[in-house]
Amino acid sequence: MSTNSLIRLKDSIKIIMNDKYPDVRLYIEPNSGYWLFIEREHWKIMDKLIHGVDKETLMKNYGNLFNILSTSRFLNDSADVYLNVLKDKFGLLILHFADGCNLSCKYCFVNAPSGRHNIMDISIAIKAIENMVNTSDNFSIEFNAGEPFLYTGFIEKVIEYVKKHYTGENIRFYVQTNGTLITRKIVNFIKKYEIKVGVSIDGPAEVHDKFRIFPNGQGSFVHVVKGINILKDNKVPFGVLSVITDPDDLRKSFDFFVKKDIRYVKFNILFQRTRTENSNTSRINQLKLAKAHCEIFREALNLYRNGKYIFLSNVIAMLKNIILPEKTYMCMKSPCGAARNQISIDWKGFIYPCHRFVGVKEFSMGHVKDYNDYKNLYLGSQQLRDLLNRNVDRIDKCKKCPFKNFCGGGCAAAVWAKTQDLYRESDTCEYYKYMFECLFWEIYKNRNIILNYINHQNQKEAK
Ligand code: SF4
Ligand code: SF4
Repeated sequence: MSTNSLIRLKDSIKIIMNDKYPDVRLYIEPNSGYWLFIEREHWKIMDKLIHGVDKETLMKNYGNLFNILSTSRFLNDSADVYLNVLKDKFGLLILHFADGCNLSCKYCFVNAPSGRHNIMDISIAIKAIENMVNTSDNFSIEFNAGEPFLYTGFIEKVIEYVKKHYTGENIRFYVQTNGTLITRKIVNFIKKYEIKVGVSIDGPAEVHDKFRIFPNGQGSFVHVVKGINILKDNKVPFGVLSVITDPDDLRKSFDFFVKKDIRYVKFNILFQRTRTENSNTSRINQLKLAKAHCEIFREALNLYRNGKYIFLSNVIAMLKNIILPEKTYMCMKSPCGAARNQISIDWKGFIYPCHRFVGVKEFSMGHVKDYNDYKNLYLGSQQLRDLLNRNVDRIDKCKKCPFKNFCGGGCAAAVWAKTQDLYRESDTCEYYKYMFECLFWEIYKNRNIILNYINHQNQKEAK
């Protein structure tokens, strides 16, 4: 028998096992992101395939398996594929149009001063939008400050301008607020301009008030809940953003959101810059956090089975990255969406690749007035070229990782803030590894319900 006719598994294939499921193995080809669950009856032949099996014998005795392995490009006679399909459209312009805030959160990474401070000149906002229109015809403008609802006059002027001048483009408006200033008047404003709203609330009072405080040290929980109740009473849809600083809080926060009937929840792991750099929040136990997050996901699935839908934004993004070839969530792409899918402008008009880089001088990409669009900004500096080249195959730990096609290698801005080296591994690696492994086994166990769960939002929108 000639060795030329031997069929083997690609060397890159990784095998993952789980004691809970002793009769199945997960096989992943990390470059393409193709994966298969293989049952025990086929392990022997899979083991033989590591060293090579005659093609004819394989096709004759294991025809179906051969077809599956071949279609999944698991075999050495098929070309390598890289299935990291990126949607690279610019979809988000973030205007950090002012820097003042009525709160003084302990972990604020823009280090917003208390009260009203500097505000963007309207001509800068117009130029920033004009450049975006020259880049994309379908995008959102996010108003970010400090606290945006301190400055409704500015927001109103910008939206009126857009509505008057850009009728052909699909432009949406979004405000990320701390929720403390929401009144019926603000609700009318939100409704009038069809603004999508995200409210920052970390969980119940004992969790939220640890960090989200007024300048006098008083917690803001009561005020945020009042704002949320006004939104709910007036049927304004909104999502919440909860910053995780302690894994033990995750469950408490989830239960609180379920109780408050909040349907759209995004848990963000604390991003450490400026105020948090020296705080004791810097040592979040990533494994503990991942275990808690998986547990919450299982609970969300249980609730879904019983008719209650909670959109767990980060988990859904991970599931989609496993199941669908297209990577849509900008923070889990490789390279990530900074300066590819979003662009951020500070109140002075300086351009940054992402809101998490605002104020970092190495990533300043010049002034909006120096450009007509946002297409070739990366030519500006080596750091920017590095950012746009930061992918999992350039990070030592990631390039060998079975989950690299789904993970993206963690947040570039967080890695930079900690190490000033974009090619270093992320602090959140352990979290992502555990999450992906957990989600794979959940898919094995609950495939149909998970497919319905991740499609639920689309189905609702299609009705
Ligand atoms: S950050 Fe960790 S889990 Fe993600 S690709 Fe890199 S090694 Fe894998
Ligand atoms: S730098 Fe971080 S927050 Fe910004 S797009 Fe990349 S992953 Fe997302």
